[in-house]
Amino acid sequence: AKQQGRNHFQWYTSDLNERVCEHARLRNELQKAIETQSLKLHYQPQIEARTGRVAGVEALLRWEHPEKGYISPAVFVPVAEDSGQIIPLSLWVLDTACAQLRQLGEQGITGISMAVNISPMHFQRGHFVQFIQTVLEKHGLCGEQLELEITESLLLHNAEQAIDTLHRLKALGVRIALDDFGTGFSSLSYLKRLPIDKIKIDRSFIQELSTDCHDAAIIQGIISMAQHLSLTVVAEGVETESQVAFLKGCRCNVLQGYYFAKPMKYEALEIFLREQKET
Ligand code: C2E
Ligand code: CA
Ligand code: CA
Ligand code: CA
Repeated sequence: AKQQGRNHFQWYTSDLNERVCEHARLRNELQKAIETQSLKLHYQPQIEARTGRVAGVEALLRWEHPEKGYISPAVFVPVAEDSGQIIPLSLWVLDTACAQLRQLGEQGITGISMAVNISPMHFQRGHFVQFIQTVLEKHGLCGEQLELEITESLLLHNAEQAIDTLHRLKALGVRIALDDFGTGFSSLSYLKRLPIDKIKIDRSFIQELSTDCHDAAIIQGIISMAQHLSLTVVAEGVETESQVAFLKGCRCNVLQGYYFAKPMKYEALEIFLREQKET
Protein backbone atom coordinates (compact mmCIF):
# COMPACT_ATOMS: atom_id res chain seq x y z
CA ALA A 1 0.00 0.00 0.00
CA LYS A 2 2.91 2.26 0.86
CA GLN A 3 4.50 1.65 -2.51
CA GLN A 4 1.27 2.43 -4.22
CA GLY A 5 0.91 5.63 -2.24
CA ARG A 6 4.33 6.73 -3.34
CA ASN A 7 3.58 6.06 -6.97
CA HIS A 8 0.46 8.00 -6.64
CA PHE A 9 2.38 10.86 -5.12
CA GLN A 10 4.89 10.83 -7.97
CA TRP A 11 2.17 10.77 -10.52
CA TYR A 12 0.50 13.66 -8.80
CA THR A 13 3.61 15.87 -8.61
CA SER A 14 4.60 15.30 -12.21
CA ASP A 15 1.07 16.10 -13.30
CA LEU A 16 1.15 19.23 -11.21
CA ASN A 17 4.56 20.20 -12.60
CA GLU A 18 3.28 19.80 -16.06
CA ARG A 19 0.35 22.04 -15.37
CA VAL A 20 2.54 24.69 -13.75
CA CYS A 21 4.83 24.60 -16.81
CA GLU A 22 1.94 24.81 -19.21
CA HIS A 23 0.62 27.75 -17.24
CA ALA A 24 3.99 29.55 -17.40
CA ARG A 25 4.31 28.81 -21.11
CA LEU A 26 0.85 30.15 -21.77
CA ARG A 27 1.65 33.28 -19.79
CA ASN A 28 4.79 33.96 -21.88
CA GLU A 29 2.97 33.36 -25.10
CA LEU A 30 0.12 35.57 -24.00
CA GLN A 31 2.63 38.35 -23.29
CA LYS A 32 3.91 38.02 -26.85
CA ALA A 33 0.38 37.98 -28.19
CA ILE A 34 -0.42 41.20 -26.31
CA GLU A 35 2.79 42.85 -27.56
CA THR A 36 2.30 41.79 -31.18
CA GLN A 37 -1.42 42.60 -31.01
CA SER A 38 -2.43 39.16 -32.17
CA LEU A 39 -5.49 39.10 -29.97
CA LYS A 40 -8.74 40.08 -31.61
CA LEU A 41 -12.22 41.01 -30.56
CA HIS A 42 -15.24 39.32 -32.02
CA TYR A 43 -18.76 40.63 -31.59
CA GLN A 44 -22.00 38.77 -30.95
CA PRO A 45 -25.33 40.50 -31.63
CA GLN A 46 -27.96 40.80 -28.90
CA ILE A 47 -31.51 40.78 -30.23
CA GLU A 48 -34.48 42.63 -28.76
CA ALA A 49 -37.05 39.84 -28.41
CA ARG A 50 -40.15 41.94 -29.07
CA THR A 51 -38.94 43.62 -32.28
CA GLY A 52 -36.14 41.42 -33.62
CA ARG A 53 -33.92 44.47 -33.79
CA VAL A 54 -30.24 44.28 -32.78
CA ALA A 55 -30.01 46.17 -29.49
CA GLY A 56 -26.33 45.70 -28.91
CA VAL A 57 -23.28 43.51 -29.31
CA GLU A 58 -21.02 41.74 -26.82
CA ALA A 59 -17.26 41.95 -27.38
CA LEU A 60 -15.50 38.59 -26.90
CA LEU A 61 -11.74 38.07 -26.88
CA ARG A 62 -10.14 35.76 -29.44
CA TRP A 63 -6.60 34.41 -29.52
CA GLU A 64 -5.39 32.68 -32.63
CA HIS A 65 -2.19 30.95 -31.51
CA PRO A 66 0.40 30.41 -34.31
CA GLU A 67 0.83 26.69 -33.48
CA LYS A 68 -1.97 25.68 -31.14
CA GLY A 69 -4.70 27.33 -33.15
CA TYR A 70 -7.62 28.92 -31.42
CA ILE A 71 -7.38 29.21 -27.62
CA SER A 72 -10.58 29.91 -25.70
CA PRO A 73 -10.80 32.97 -23.45
CA ALA A 74 -12.17 30.57 -20.85
CA VAL A 75 -8.59 29.17 -20.78
CA PHE A 76 -6.41 32.27 -21.13
CA VAL A 77 -8.43 34.88 -19.25
CA PRO A 78 -7.87 33.02 -15.92
CA VAL A 79 -4.14 32.81 -16.75
CA ALA A 80 -4.08 36.55 -17.39
CA GLU A 81 -5.92 37.16 -14.12
CA ASP A 82 -3.31 35.14 -12.20
CA SER A 83 -0.40 36.99 -13.75
CA GLY A 84 -1.87 40.49 -13.71
CA GLN A 85 -1.77 40.62 -17.52
CA ILE A 86 -5.53 41.06 -17.40
CA ILE A 87 -5.08 44.78 -16.69
CA PRO A 88 -3.30 45.79 -19.94
CA LEU A 89 -5.47 43.26 -21.77
CA SER A 90 -8.67 44.70 -20.39
CA LEU A 91 -7.56 48.26 -21.19
CA TRP A 92 -6.92 47.16 -24.76
CA VAL A 93 -10.33 45.43 -24.97
CA LEU A 94 -12.17 48.54 -23.76
CA ASP A 95 -10.25 50.86 -26.06
CA THR A 96 -10.73 48.61 -29.10
CA ALA A 97 -14.41 47.92 -28.46
CA CYS A 98 -15.12 51.64 -28.09
CA ALA A 99 -13.10 52.47 -31.21
CA GLN A 100 -15.10 49.94 -33.22
CA LEU A 101 -18.41 51.18 -31.85
CA ARG A 102 -17.47 54.66 -33.00
CA GLN A 103 -16.49 53.23 -36.38
CA LEU A 104 -19.96 51.65 -36.66
CA GLY A 105 -21.47 55.05 -35.95
CA GLU A 106 -19.35 56.60 -38.67
CA GLN A 107 -20.77 53.97 -41.04
CA GLY A 108 -24.25 55.17 -40.17
CA ILE A 109 -25.00 52.24 -37.89
CA THR A 110 -26.33 53.75 -34.68
CA GLY A 111 -28.55 52.88 -31.74
CA ILE A 112 -26.36 49.95 -30.76
CA SER A 113 -24.67 49.44 -27.42
CA MET A 114 -21.35 47.72 -26.79
CA ALA A 115 -21.11 45.20 -23.95
CA VAL A 116 -17.65 44.45 -22.56
CA ASN A 117 -16.74 41.72 -20.05
CA ILE A 118 -14.88 43.11 -17.07
CA SER A 119 -12.67 40.99 -14.86
CA PRO A 120 -13.18 41.70 -11.11
CA MET A 121 -9.47 42.36 -10.78
CA HIS A 122 -9.66 45.23 -13.25
CA PHE A 123 -12.91 46.57 -11.85
CA GLN A 124 -11.45 46.74 -8.34
CA ARG A 125 -8.37 48.67 -9.41
CA GLY A 126 -8.10 52.35 -8.62
CA HIS A 127 -8.81 54.67 -11.55
CA PHE A 128 -11.18 52.19 -13.22
CA VAL A 129 -14.03 54.71 -13.42
CA GLN A 130 -11.62 57.41 -14.53
CA PHE A 131 -10.33 55.15 -17.30
CA ILE A 132 -13.88 54.45 -18.49
CA GLN A 133 -14.58 58.16 -18.61
CA THR A 134 -11.35 58.80 -20.55
CA VAL A 135 -11.99 56.06 -23.10
CA LEU A 136 -15.56 57.31 -23.70
CA GLU A 137 -14.28 60.84 -24.27
CA LYS A 138 -11.45 59.65 -26.50
CA HIS A 139 -13.92 57.97 -28.87
CA GLY A 140 -16.66 60.55 -28.56
CA LEU A 141 -19.17 58.12 -27.05
CA CYS A 142 -21.76 58.75 -24.39
CA GLY A 143 -21.96 56.49 -21.33
CA GLU A 144 -25.29 55.01 -22.42
CA GLN A 145 -23.57 53.33 -25.37
CA LEU A 146 -21.33 51.25 -23.13
CA GLU A 147 -22.40 48.29 -21.03
CA LEU A 148 -20.13 46.48 -18.59
CA GLU A 149 -20.73 42.79 -17.90
CA ILE A 150 -19.68 41.88 -14.39
CA THR A 151 -20.16 38.82 -12.23
CA GLU A 152 -21.18 38.61 -8.61
CA SER A 153 -17.69 37.34 -7.67
CA LEU A 154 -16.91 41.04 -7.72
CA LEU A 155 -18.66 41.37 -4.39
CA LEU A 156 -16.68 38.67 -2.60
CA HIS A 157 -13.80 40.84 -1.42
CA ASN A 158 -15.00 44.35 -0.84
CA ALA A 159 -18.68 44.62 -1.59
CA GLU A 160 -19.05 48.18 -0.31
CA GLN A 161 -16.29 49.46 -2.56
CA ALA A 162 -17.67 47.55 -5.55
CA ILE A 163 -21.13 49.03 -5.03
CA ASP A 164 -19.61 52.50 -4.77
CA THR A 165 -17.77 51.96 -8.07
CA LEU A 166 -21.01 50.79 -9.69
CA HIS A 167 -22.75 53.99 -8.59
CA ARG A 168 -19.97 56.11 -10.05
CA LEU A 169 -20.19 54.24 -13.35
CA LYS A 170 -23.94 54.75 -13.42
CA ALA A 171 -23.38 58.45 -12.91
CA LEU A 172 -21.53 58.37 -16.25
CA GLY A 173 -24.59 56.75 -17.82
CA VAL A 174 -22.80 53.41 -18.27
CA ARG A 175 -25.09 50.37 -18.02
CA ILE A 176 -24.26 47.37 -15.87
CA ALA A 177 -25.21 43.78 -16.63
CA LEU A 178 -24.81 40.93 -14.15
CA ASP A 179 -23.40 38.03 -16.16
CA ASP A 180 -23.81 34.27 -15.58
CA PHE A 181 -26.86 34.93 -13.45
CA GLY A 182 -28.08 31.91 -11.51
CA THR A 183 -24.72 30.15 -11.26
CA GLY A 184 -23.56 31.93 -8.12
CA PHE A 185 -24.69 31.29 -4.61
CA SER A 186 -26.27 34.47 -3.37
CA SER A 187 -27.62 36.11 -6.50
CA LEU A 188 -31.03 36.96 -5.15
CA SER A 189 -29.95 38.87 -2.08
CA TYR A 190 -27.46 40.93 -4.09
CA LEU A 191 -29.99 42.05 -6.66
CA LYS A 192 -31.67 44.46 -4.30
CA ARG A 193 -28.41 46.08 -3.27
CA LEU A 194 -26.76 46.36 -6.66
CA PRO A 195 -27.28 49.33 -8.95
CA ILE A 196 -27.53 47.18 -12.08
CA ASP A 197 -29.65 47.44 -15.23
CA LYS A 198 -29.64 43.91 -16.59
CA ILE A 199 -29.16 40.31 -15.72
CA LYS A 200 -27.92 37.69 -18.15
CA ILE A 201 -29.40 34.27 -17.46
CA ASP A 202 -26.59 31.76 -17.69
CA ARG A 203 -26.37 29.58 -20.76
CA SER A 204 -26.62 26.38 -18.70
CA PHE A 205 -30.28 27.12 -17.87
CA ILE A 206 -31.17 27.87 -21.47
CA GLN A 207 -29.43 24.80 -22.82
CA GLU A 208 -31.31 22.33 -20.69
CA LEU A 209 -34.68 23.97 -21.26
CA SER A 210 -36.10 21.14 -23.33
CA THR A 211 -34.82 18.31 -21.12
CA ASP A 212 -35.26 19.78 -17.67
CA CYS A 213 -38.63 21.18 -16.64
CA HIS A 214 -37.02 22.69 -13.54
CA ASP A 215 -34.95 24.97 -15.74
CA ALA A 216 -38.11 26.25 -17.39
CA ALA A 217 -39.55 27.04 -13.96
CA ILE A 218 -36.31 28.72 -12.83
CA ILE A 219 -36.21 30.88 -15.96
CA GLN A 220 -39.83 31.93 -15.55
CA GLY A 221 -39.13 32.77 -11.92
CA ILE A 222 -35.99 34.77 -12.70
CA ILE A 223 -37.76 36.77 -15.42
CA SER A 224 -40.79 37.68 -13.37
CA MET A 225 -38.65 38.63 -10.39
CA ALA A 226 -36.38 40.75 -12.59
CA GLN A 227 -39.37 42.53 -14.08
CA HIS A 228 -40.62 43.45 -10.63
CA LEU A 229 -37.21 44.97 -9.98
CA SER A 230 -37.34 46.79 -13.37
CA LEU A 231 -34.32 44.91 -14.66
CA THR A 232 -33.83 43.96 -18.30
CA VAL A 233 -33.36 40.22 -18.83
CA VAL A 234 -30.97 38.78 -21.39
CA ALA A 235 -30.89 35.07 -22.22
CA GLU A 236 -27.51 33.86 -23.46
CA GLY A 237 -26.68 30.73 -25.42
CA VAL A 238 -29.99 30.63 -27.30
CA GLU A 239 -29.60 27.98 -30.00
CA THR A 240 -33.00 26.65 -31.05
CA GLU A 241 -36.33 27.87 -32.26
CA SER A 242 -38.15 26.28 -29.34
CA GLN A 243 -35.90 28.11 -26.88
CA VAL A 244 -36.73 31.36 -28.66
CA ALA A 245 -40.46 30.61 -28.47
CA PHE A 246 -40.31 29.76 -24.78
CA LEU A 247 -38.26 32.85 -23.89
CA LYS A 248 -40.51 35.15 -25.89
CA GLY A 249 -43.48 33.59 -24.08
CA CYS A 250 -41.85 34.48 -20.76
CA ARG A 251 -41.30 38.03 -21.99
CA CYS A 252 -37.55 37.78 -21.86
CA ASN A 253 -36.28 41.13 -23.19
CA VAL A 254 -33.09 40.30 -25.08
CA LEU A 255 -31.88 37.11 -26.76
CA GLN A 256 -28.29 36.20 -27.61
CA GLY A 257 -26.93 32.99 -29.09
CA TYR A 258 -25.97 30.93 -32.11
CA TYR A 259 -29.62 30.81 -33.23
CA PHE A 260 -29.28 34.47 -34.23
CA ALA A 261 -25.55 34.85 -34.81
CA LYS A 262 -22.20 33.55 -33.63
CA PRO A 263 -19.52 35.97 -32.47
CA MET A 264 -17.97 37.47 -35.63
CA LYS A 265 -15.17 39.78 -36.59
CA TYR A 266 -15.75 43.47 -37.05
CA GLU A 267 -16.02 43.37 -40.85
CA ALA A 268 -18.68 40.66 -40.72
CA LEU A 269 -20.55 42.52 -37.98
CA GLU A 270 -20.75 45.63 -40.09
CA ILE A 271 -22.32 43.62 -42.93
CA PHE A 272 -24.68 41.82 -40.53
CA LEU A 273 -25.91 45.09 -39.02
CA ARG A 274 -26.32 46.75 -42.39
CA GLU A 275 -28.46 43.85 -43.64
CA GLN A 276 -30.56 44.02 -40.47
CA LYS A 277 -31.17 47.68 -41.06
CA GLU A 278 -32.48 47.05 -44.56
CA THR A 279 -34.96 44.32 -43.66
P1 C2E B 1 -19.40 34.80 -21.18
O1 C2E B 1 -19.21 36.25 -20.91
O2 C2E B 1 -20.44 34.10 -20.40
O3 C2E B 1 -19.65 34.72 -22.75
C1 C2E B 1 -20.58 33.87 -23.36
C2 C2E B 1 -19.88 32.71 -24.04
O4 C2E B 1 -20.88 31.90 -24.67
C3 C2E B 1 -18.92 33.11 -25.14
O5 C2E B 1 -17.85 32.16 -25.12
C4 C2E B 1 -19.78 32.93 -26.41
O6 C2E B 1 -19.00 32.75 -27.58
C5 C2E B 1 -20.56 31.71 -26.04
N1 C2E B 1 -21.85 31.59 -26.76
C6 C2E B 1 -22.64 32.57 -27.25
N2 C2E B 1 -23.76 32.06 -27.80
C7 C2E B 1 -23.68 30.73 -27.65
C8 C2E B 1 -24.55 29.63 -28.03
O7 C2E B 1 -25.63 29.80 -28.59
N3 C2E B 1 -24.14 28.38 -27.70
C9 C2E B 1 -22.95 28.15 -27.06
N4 C2E B 1 -22.61 26.90 -26.79
N5 C2E B 1 -22.11 29.16 -26.69
C10 C2E B 1 -22.48 30.42 -26.99
P2 C2E B 1 -16.35 32.60 -25.32
O8 C2E B 1 -16.27 33.67 -26.36
O9 C2E B 1 -15.53 31.37 -25.49
O10 C2E B 1 -15.99 33.28 -23.93
C11 C2E B 1 -15.89 32.54 -22.74
C12 C2E B 1 -15.75 33.43 -21.53
O11 C2E B 1 -14.50 34.12 -21.55
C13 C2E B 1 -16.82 34.52 -21.45
O12 C2E B 1 -18.01 34.00 -20.93
C14 C2E B 1 -16.13 35.51 -20.52
O13 C2E B 1 -16.32 35.13 -19.18
C15 C2E B 1 -14.66 35.36 -20.89
N6 C2E B 1 -14.28 36.49 -21.78
C16 C2E B 1 -14.41 36.59 -23.14
N7 C2E B 1 -13.96 37.79 -23.56
C17 C2E B 1 -13.53 38.46 -22.46
C18 C2E B 1 -12.95 39.77 -22.24
O14 C2E B 1 -12.76 40.61 -23.15
N8 C2E B 1 -12.63 40.10 -20.94
C19 C2E B 1 -12.85 39.23 -19.90
N9 C2E B 1 -12.52 39.63 -18.65
N10 C2E B 1 -13.40 38.02 -20.07
C20 C2E B 1 -13.74 37.63 -21.34
CA1 CA C 1 -20.48 38.01 -20.91
CA1 CA D 1 -22.33 34.65 -19.44
CA1 CA E 1 -18.98 33.04 -18.18
